[in-house]
Amino acid sequence: MKAKRICPICESKEVDFLHAQKFELPEDHPLTAGYDVVSCSACGFVYADTEATQADYDRFYARYSKYEDAKTGTGGIENPFDWKRQQETARYIAETLNDRTLSVLDVGCANGGMLKALKELGFENLCGIDPSPVCVENTRRVGADAHQGSLFQPFKENAYDCVILSHTLEHVQDVRGAMNWIAKRLKPNGVVYVETPDAKRYLDFLYAPLQDFNTEHINHFSLTSLRNLIERGDFIFIEGASKDLPLNDKMDYPAVYGFWKLAKNTKTYFSKDDVLRQKINEYIARSKEMIQRIDRQIEDLISSNTPLIVWCAGQLTLKLLAETSLGRADIVAFVDNNPINHQKNLHGKPILPPAKISQLDEPILIATLLHHQSIAKQIRDMGLTNEIILLQGSLT
Ligand SMILES: [Zn+2]
Repeated sequence: MKAKRICPICESKEVDFLHAQKFELPEDHPLTAGYDVVSCSACGFVYADTEATQADYDRFYARYSKYEDAKTGTGGIENPFDWKRQQETARYIAETLNDRTLSVLDVGCANGGMLKALKELGFENLCGIDPSPVCVENTRRVGADAHQGSLFQPFKENAYDCVILSHTLEHVQDVRGAMNWIAKRLKPNGVVYVETPDAKRYLDFLYAPLQDFNTEHINHFSLTSLRNLIERGDFIFIEGASKDLPLNDKMDYPAVYGFWKLAKNTKTYFSKDDVLRQKINEYIARSKEMIQRIDRQIEDLISSNTPLIVWCAGQLTLKLLAETSLGRADIVAFVDNNPINHQKNLHGKPILPPAKISQLDEPILIATLLHHQSIAKQIRDMGLTNEIILLQGSLT
């Protein structure tokens, strides 16, 4: 079939349909409530065939950044697992660069965690860019220079020895434009460090169904597809591999990463990724089994007329509202820890901060399979005695 969004890596229009992903979005949300996940027939890349433009995403990240909240977001220092992840990555980058005087630009710097980790390793010439003004403030607070901006706005040219693009490229609609923008920021012989989730291994870290197909992650890279993208521009490959990152004390998630050097590139061919599509198809099939299991559980709650408080207005809830009987459940309110979600309505109900539900005695459905244990503990630590219902999505 023909894609609405041409392959962001090789610009082929011909794609194979893999999955239709739907979401029910909070009111006034600027992105589209679903897209097809497709694989490029020419290069094998897997991506969201979304009609949202880069300008739509820029608006979204400037106004709705979940990363602003230092406690629940990533890219800061308050979440110990995320901080450890960034320290480890910073050590690897420092070892590879092997010169603390080099200038480093972190694009999509969130709350400045990576820059802080590099500062602690002796780097002084550090700068961050983020579309969210709150993230810019937080990054300045860790002692790095920071500016509000994005990959598609004017910024210093020929200025940096190293650009870091860590867990950013999977969010970007125009990935080739992003790499061209980075090439302009680098000094001659500068290097780029790129890290994204490893889509080839989503299946091995499947905790929540289709967790990697969300409103924000619209590109699903393997190291092969990352190389196909970056080496189309003026970059040559230095090294790259796959690794596991800690999500919490029990769960990891997979990432691919690598270093590329700015240099005239003569490579003109693609290495077609034949494995990615097959792995993603297995991931979709397993996820659908999990969703069916959850759907049966929610059907039982509906048939017993149980009104519910739904704790978490995150990506899984947006999917379950669109794709399961949760959309028909008697939902009294949603609760979420992230302040960015408060004062919004979802499914016609308010999203409340935890402190606002002390008067409600309905059972609480914890609608996440990633953070359910810490939320269950939080509910009891708050002194709430509501019945707690956990999703039965796990296949184990
Ligand atoms: Zn392609």
